[in-house]
Amino acid sequence: MSGRRHIPVRTCIGCREREAQKEMLRLVRTPNGSLRLDAAGRQPGRGGYLHRREDCWKKFAKRGGTVRSFRSAVQLQARQALLEELRAGADL
Ligand SMILES: [Zn+2]
Repeated sequence: MSGRRHIPVRTCIGCREREAQKEMLRLVRTPNGSLRLDAAGRQPGRGGYLHRREDCWKKFAKRGGTVRSFRSAVQLQARQALLEELRAGADL
């Protein structure tokens, strides 16, 4: 899907622009529907990616509906909890 490029590229679930995977934060949807920041990028489960920008985090937190990477909708509460976690924990 990434064509001839060697660098894996992912789509940001905030702004929906594509970026090199290594530049992005990985999120994993847990079975109970919440989202965890996957700092090491190795946790199993449906993953999604966000830029390291609060702008994108906010866009994702505000937007409703199904997130394709997670194959399901993510509840507003889970999205806002993630936003808090990113603000508190991500040392950017
Ligand atoms: Zn983005």
